[in-house]
Amino acid sequence: MNIDVALLKQICEIAGAPGFEKRVRDLVVDLVTPLADEVKTDNLGNVIAIKRGKNNPDGKRVMVAAHMDEIGFIVTHVDDNGFLRFHTLGGFDPKTLTAQRVIVHGKKDLVGVMGSKPIHVMSPEERNKLPKTTDFFIDLGMSKEEVEKYISVGDPVTRDRELIEMGDCVNCKSIDNRVAVFILIEALKQLDNPPYDVYATFTVQEEVGLRGANVAAHSINPDFGIALDTTIAFDVPGAQAHEKVTQLGKGTAIKIMDAMTICDYRMVDFMKQTADQKEITWQPEILTAGGTDTAGVQRMGKQGAIAGAISIPTRHLHQVIEMAHKKDIADSISLLVACLEGVDQYDWKH
Ligand SMILES: [Zn+2]
Repeated sequence: MNIDVALLKQICEIAGAPGFEKRVRDLVVDLVTPLADEVKTDNLGNVIAIKRGKNNPDGKRVMVAAHMDEIGFIVTHVDDNGFLRFHTLGGFDPKTLTAQRVIVHGKKDLVGVMGSKPIHVMSPEERNKLPKTTDFFIDLGMSKEEVEKYISVGDPVTRDRELIEMGDCVNCKSIDNRVAVFILIEALKQLDNPPYDVYATFTVQEEVGLRGANVAAHSINPDFGIALDTTIAFDVPGAQAHEKVTQLGKGTAIKIMDAMTICDYRMVDFMKQTADQKEITWQPEILTAGGTDTAGVQRMGKQGAIAGAISIPTRHLHQVIEMAHKKDIADSISLLVACLEGVDQYDWKH
């Protein structure tokens, strides 16, 4: 269950709102350059690290996708008193914005707080209403003149929260999907002579509609595809057995389907077989709402790819307190490495 928590912390804490991934991209390029035969960045900002296959006369390509972006915001307006209005970049549950610190990335980084109406001045009707993202504003504690020295409309905003360890779990903002970025980097470290060319792809703009993965899959044109992303672990008080999707600490999750992809039955079978052979703990995942890069990886190549996904069970998804279990993370690394090394050993024609 030993994972490099210091590296995971560095990867989770760095900023990277959709469309503004430069900081996390620069870190990823630094980390993967010594691990790959070739590293390129495409026009959209996806990073593609290629590790060549050892015996690959047909030039078979396996694309592995992990999105680098995190849900965030963009500044839309600075009002006369220096408060910021914003639009969301990615899917937010409005209640999760309450009482949060954020970082506004302008000419310099400024810490702000998500303000909203105090309960003391709410009418009885307002108290019973669900919050909307438009009820919130960002308070930088500065006048308009001071704010405008540093911040402009169009600047990205990310959530401010550091990674801590809790029992056998890690807890941070952006476990979705930096844990997968971490898993893909750790897999590249362990990968020893894969049979086919591995395209380790760190995608952009997943949270606003799989935009990076679509472009990357189109250019890579993979034969096989594996997406890496977090999934719901609703294994908490009040959840019924059939609602859990996955459970923390019960192993890596092999995706069967999500709302945008039915995984290839052969890839699902190959992953299950590989996990069983290597004695890696796994659980099945069916997520009926929400999509992942799996969709782009599967369908944007010229003939489509035989695609599936390895998912990391995560509690409190899309909140600043996302939680994953160290054993599930370690199992996910092991399964990914085993699949990349054994992809030529399976009868894909059956
Ligand atoms: Zn994600």
